[in-house]
Amino acid sequence: MRNKVVLFVVSIISLSIIMAGCGGKSEGGEREKPLVVATTTIIANITEEIAGDRVEVYGIMPVGGDPHIYQPVPGDARMIARSDLVLLNGLELEGWLTELAQHAGGSRPMVTVTDGITPLEDKQRHGEPDPHAWFDVQNMHYYVDNIVRGLITIDPDGAEIYNERAAAYKKKLDELDVWVHEQIESLPGDRRILITSHDAFRYFGEAYGVRVMALQGISTEAQPQTKDVVELVRAVRNYNIPAVFIETSVNPKMLEQIARDAGARIGGELFSDSIGQPGHEGGTYIGMVRYNVRTFVESMMQEPVAGK
Ligand SMILES: [Zn+2]
Repeated sequence: MRNKVVLFVVSIISLSIIMAGCGGKSEGGEREKPLVVATTTIIANITEEIAGDRVEVYGIMPVGGDPHIYQPVPGDARMIARSDLVLLNGLELEGWLTELAQHAGGSRPMVTVTDGITPLEDKQRHGEPDPHAWFDVQNMHYYVDNIVRGLITIDPDGAEIYNERAAAYKKKLDELDVWVHEQIESLPGDRRILITSHDAFRYFGEAYGVRVMALQGISTEAQPQTKDVVELVRAVRNYNIPAVFIETSVNPKMLEQIARDAGARIGGELFSDSIGQPGHEGGTYIGMVRYNVRTFVESMMQEPVAGK
């Protein structure tokens, strides 16, 4: 009799271990929230906007991190191993993700949120796709639709809620898009030039009619070349540009040097590949776009630095 009880207890323990290993069940037997892993802070934010509190969202990238050169930590593989869904930007932004997902093992849906977008190509680098699709606000309709598709795959009961919240969010995106156009159009034509550290704003330039020049290409992996520095200094002088812009996720040193050499101000810090800290205006995708555009327009409205 006693042996039977022991055996029963052991079985219960093994069963709980097996269930814990599967994830998704809490001790009370209730379904825990599905875990969604998002690679970038931008994707994490939009997923939270759409999913509300129906899922737990874990962002791999820290706020202010640079996704081009990110070094995954062991905790990332553990979170992917526990996750029900992985959302990635794609367009070759997260080169480090494939190996990470392999380490995590198992199988789960991986949804590329840029699916459906026709990418811009980088002419200087043999036509690889430019990953920074998020700076054309219209592209975010694809991000939203792909995120909704992923969420419904793992939580079909939430479909109605996800679709409703996505529709409300898309309305905000459309308002944002109109506002960005108005802001840029308020600048004189010869001031619609954006000089930054790395080439994250080409979609922005295409969508809103801004000429974009950057020190580094679309990835921060390559080192800036002296000829690029010289070219940018010349451009600032030739076009009488009042300000150049550093980025929150890129080392500002070289661009500060260019500003000094060319006689321009640092117009401010733009959010490029990461949103800002919670509580900062740039702490959401919509907030970061508003912050960037206002920073750009206000600085470019100023007179160029005298006597250069
Ligand atoms: Zn970038």
